[in-house]
Amino acid sequence: MTSMQQDTRHIIVVGAGTAGSIMAGRMAEAGHRVTLIEAGGQDTNPAIPHLSRLGELWHSPEDWDYFTVPQQHASGRVIHWPRGRVLGGSHALNAAIWVHGNPLDYDDWAAAGCDGWAWSGVAPVFEALEAYDGPAQDDDAAAPRGADGLVPVVGGYRRSPIFDAIIAAADAVGVPFNTDYNSGSQEGISQEQLTVRDGKRVTTYMAYAKPWVDRGAIEVRTGAVVERLVVADGRVTGVQLHAGGNAEVEGVSADEPTARLGSDGEVIEADEVVLCAGALDSPKILMRSGIGPAEYDPAIFSDPRDREALRVSLRQGREVVAAAPLAEGWGAREVHPGPSVSTEAEEDAYIDRTVTTYHHQVGTCRMGTDELAVVDPATLAVRGLEGVRVVDASVMPFITNGNTNAPSAMIGEKGARFLLGE
Ligand SMILES: Cc1cc2nc3c(=O)[nH]c(=O)nc-3n(C[C@H](O)[C@H](O)[C@H](O)COP(=O)(O)OP(=O)(O)OC[C@H]3O[C@@H](n4cnc5c(N)ncnc54)[C@H](O)[C@@H]3O)c2cc1C
Repeated sequence: MTSMQQDTRHIIVVGAGTAGSIMAGRMAEAGHRVTLIEAGGQDTNPAIPHLSRLGELWHSPEDWDYFTVPQQHASGRVIHWPRGRVLGGSHALNAAIWVHGNPLDYDDWAAAGCDGWAWSGVAPVFEALEAYDGPAQDDDAAAPRGADGLVPVVGGYRRSPIFDAIIAAADAVGVPFNTDYNSGSQEGISQEQLTVRDGKRVTTYMAYAKPWVDRGAIEVRTGAVVERLVVADGRVTGVQLHAGGNAEVEGVSADEPTARLGSDGEVIEADEVVLCAGALDSPKILMRSGIGPAEYDPAIFSDPRDREALRVSLRQGREVVAAAPLAEGWGAREVHPGPSVSTEAEEDAYIDRTVTTYHHQVGTCRMGTDELAVVDPATLAVRGLEGVRVVDASVMPFITNGNTNAPSAMIGEKGARFLLGE
């Protein structure tokens, strides 16, 4: 027996989303036995590759279709939270925008007790993940962009004339063009960088996991909802799937629906379980297992500074529309909120009536060293339990400035390095 075979472990990865797909692919590449358990089905919906069709995926079988509780600070509204339920996870129905975040975000994470997660520690991980094809920042201090990673990131694609006018209008009101917002400075207006190849969406599932699935090195279980962890003497020994009607996955075109009528769902044993079920579902699995992370009831605008920040942003948007390149060049006029909204109170009322989230839920099993932290920053292991880690957007101690897919991918890669001892 080779040393590789002797070291081979059976690893269950729960959730084939942004982070879980990287975790599963990296474990398979290292020779481990991997079972990837995904509640949703195959990523065969024809809308998935086409970014312009992403709206078709909301409320579809590929969407968990979550809704918030009524938001008392936002006109009492119930707000839709789409989340991916399909191979690829939320990366299969997101806008594919790739944003590392601000270097200071990560320095704050480190200052909050997450050693190794400062910008200097995570920037090389972003570099390893991506194959960047776009314009470079002309600045010696700019962080290098990756060329050889598995995630294609495209910037600098041909812009429509209206797009150019928006950039010129922003410049006219003091917001300059930033060539590459992922190289260290986020100031200014930029062209989005997208995870596409030949105009089609590429998820981390497609990039990292699928090649190993095709080779038979990852066993994928679709339509399989993990109900809870199986724990014996402080050690997680596997997972139990949901049994019964499996209403949660009704309508999902699963390869092999695992839900069976019966009292107990199937138990799958493993040497290690990695929860990558996302910021809403990883904590739910822990709670169903009797391990209670903090509550995460959303409370939009419970901190009034959030509404103030949004008001500043609304005003900036209004200024951009009124600037010459748009107003004169294209005859642009403001439609929303429109001229009837002029006082601060009217602006706030408009914001409360219309605010929604940009789908970046994080921090529900956050890493840290304080009493309330759920995972250890050095390993992403759940504190106080053996054999289980959380590796997804849940572990972020604070949200980054920007969209959260690239940070979730970075967490997947860093988590894989922890497991492999790299
Ligand atoms: C509509 C939308 C648009 C977005 N746009 C962008 C964007 O353009 N750019 C960006 O950077 N970010 C965007 N985001 C956010 C980004 O996609 C997420 O932050 C990121 O995908 C989170 O990755 P994750 O690995 O934590 O979870 P996910 O990718 O959500 O993966 C979790 C996976 O676990 C599975 N799962 C959950 N529970 C169970 C269970 N009990 N058993 C088995 N499997 C389970 C889910 O089905 C899912 O496949 C968007 C998100 C949404 C929803």
